Amino acid sequence: MSAFKVSGPVLPDGEPRELYVVDGRVTYERQAGADTVAEGWIVPGLVDAHCHLGLDDFGATTDEETERQAIDDRDGGALLIRDAGSAADTRWVQSRDDLPRLIRCGRHIGRTKRYIRNYAHEVEPLDLPGYAAQQARHGDGWIKLVGDWIDRAEGDLAPSFPAEAFAAAIKAAHAEGAKVTAHCYGPDVLPGLIRAGIDCIEHGTGLSEDLVDEMVARGTALVPTIMQLDLMPENAAAGAARFPDFAATLHDLHDRMPATIMAAYEAGVPIYAGSDGGGISRHGNIAGEVAALHRIGIPARDALAAASWRAREWLGHPGLGEGDPADLVVYPSDPTTDLSVLRSPLRVVLRGRVVA
Ligand SMILES: [Zn+2]
Repeated sequence: MSAFKVSGPVLPDGEPRELYVVDGRVTYERQAGADTVAEGWIVPGLVDAHCHLGLDDFGATTDEETERQAIDDRDGGALLIRDAGSAADTRWVQSRDDLPRLIRCGRHIGRTKRYIRNYAHEVEPLDLPGYAAQQARHGDGWIKLVGDWIDRAEGDLAPSFPAEAFAAAIKAAHAEGAKVTAHCYGPDVLPGLIRAGIDCIEHGTGLSEDLVDEMVARGTALVPTIMQLDLMPENAAAGAARFPDFAATLHDLHDRMPATIMAAYEAGVPIYAGSDGGGISRHGNIAGEVAALHRIGIPARDALAAASWRAREWLGHPGLGEGDPADLVVYPSDPTTDLSVLRSPLRVVLRGRVVA
């Protein structure tokens, strides 16, 4: 494979460099005759830490649609995706060099008739640990639980399972070597999950000060998916007539959302960017989530780190050191001073190939 180069400041340190790509890897050793494919700000491949490949509003999609989703994500700069639950078997994506790297977490596990139709394995509490172990074996080191959802009998948001069942499920997944994350909107489900050693919380609008401290002490991560949380009033309106308590709960969580997430950030909870593409929103918009993290108060550089080098490290993927796989995005100007440039990559390089 012939060498090519990109030149410009390389994040996170911002040192101007000539970065060569040889046989899919990064080198800073001069390669005679290498073509320059872009000059600009060089950022380690973006990470979408909460995305759903193979899922649409009605459940599993076709492989063709999954491919389109993955290409949209890739062209938006997301070269590493932590899938947050999919009803489709997307393992084949990992055999495609032109599609983003994918960390699958199997299928969501939720309570019977307590989640979006056709999305989850729907189980009862006694079966939860068994399903957790099974999905841990099927996934790539993560599983996804539905922590809470509307309980139609109560007419309000409520934990999907008792705390003991969640704790047994976390233990079962950990025994298989997998980490656990959960969809959590409300406060009630959180203490049990965090104290049982869950590895990550999705959304987290129900977090309180003491729980945030506990997350910091344990190193529990948070992927808030701000763009998704922005839709809470819409979700509330849709159910307001039949479930007024539920609608009021969502409105309240939404009103306090920026303060809740910022309290977690300020306390030192590790926060990562997730677009929730495929859940409700479209794919290819990790730039929108970085902007949303900044909008609620996270400094631009930290918001970008949450979708790049810091998230890569969290998920066990390197940045742009000598010999690392060449996954990078080049932007025309410094994204840490103006995040809007994330919408206009000059070049996307995945596994050492210019893909966009
Ligand atoms: Zn989601």
